[in-house]
Amino acid sequence: MDQTKSGAVPMKDGQRASPRASTEAVRQQNSGLVLQVLRREGPLAHTDLSSATGLSSATVSAITAELEKQTLIERRELPTAGHRGRPRVLFARRRAAAHVIAVRISSHAVQYSLADYRGTMIDRFEEARDQGTQSPAAFLAAFRAALDRLVNRSRLAISDIASISISSKGLADREGAKLLWSPIFGYEALDFEQALSDFGTARIHLFNESLLVTHALVLRLEKSRQQPVQSLATLSLGHSIGLGVALRDPQGHLDVRAPNFGHMLHSDDGKRCRCGAYGCIEASAGFYGILRTAFEVPPDTIPASFVPLSEMEKIATRARQGHRASEYAFRQAGLALGQGLSRMLSLAEETMPIAITGPGTRFMDLLTRGLDEGLAQSQHVRVRGAPDILIITEEETLVFEGHVDRSLSEIDMVLGG
Ligand SMILES: [Zn+2]
Repeated sequence: MDQTKSGAVPMKDGQRASPRASTEAVRQQNSGLVLQVLRREGPLAHTDLSSATGLSSATVSAITAELEKQTLIERRELPTAGHRGRPRVLFARRRAAAHVIAVRISSHAVQYSLADYRGTMIDRFEEARDQGTQSPAAFLAAFRAALDRLVNRSRLAISDIASISISSKGLADREGAKLLWSPIFGYEALDFEQALSDFGTARIHLFNESLLVTHALVLRLEKSRQQPVQSLATLSLGHSIGLGVALRDPQGHLDVRAPNFGHMLHSDDGKRCRCGAYGCIEASAGFYGILRTAFEVPPDTIPASFVPLSEMEKIATRARQGHRASEYAFRQAGLALGQGLSRMLSLAEETMPIAITGPGTRFMDLLTRGLDEGLAQSQHVRVRGAPDILIITEEETLVFEGHVDRSLSEIDMVLGG
């Protein structure tokens, strides 16, 4: 399988052929690749499919015939403009072949989205969350009911749903779909796999939101640059602090993780964190941490459960007007982030670009000084130079794209095989 002229980048283990791989495994990989290219590039003609995958014309013919038989793809005939003769045939993923549900749990609402097999969103609604009054059991019951409604609204059956992908801030179990700690429910664990055990054969996944943002951003950058991204970190700024890290290994496989950056120990400064510990990065750099320092209340004051953006804007305005404590609060936040990132870069042994996302990006003018200072204090940055910083203001679409790409990649490997 020749990947060199292809814009497609293998994302999963086993998608590349090893010399010892059996014919069957190669066929499965190739058909997964064809499905992936059709999803990321949209409907393609036979020749374009061949050049985008790097597969021979004969191989593409065999695979598309098989995928048509499995009703995963369909052909569309387009009349050739200005010519007589044969219509142009495009291969496309068949929308109804499978459906995926993506759920984003945030501090104020839960957003439910339904996407078809092409990855197009076909329905979405949002439900406000009762601030702090709902028990985990009540939350899971409402969650389950909302999924039923989403399925019914599109006149689908539960068996049409191939995957349910859930994201939240907090600490997710890597195996299984269990939320171990979240800003909303604290240490009361939420077991989604168990709560949805009667939901047909759908695969249930739970991700930290920053992992999905990083995954989707890598795909976007690869598409615009037409070359693989070797490494990328994304830092999400808001009430919580999140980090995602994507690293490509020598085999070309991209590993995306969301280390527990917000609750990494930053300093023995006595600042109380929402997680119950003291001195976490979030206790300095999360919105509630900035608020606490700006209002000069004791560092061990119990964190505000939610700080409206308008309140943060007020503090920022005061800081820009030269109010000392407000200015200092943002600078301390930047410093905690910069020092945390320099530690992460030292551990990764690599200076990777860092994309900053989330509502906190609107305060970059106030955070940058501390951030640069924190980065520059490390030997890693002094020797290897400061990382490139990208500001990405929008997060919601990235979360959705991450959900859908991961779900459909997995489904393709199963169905296409
Ligand atoms: Zn913490």
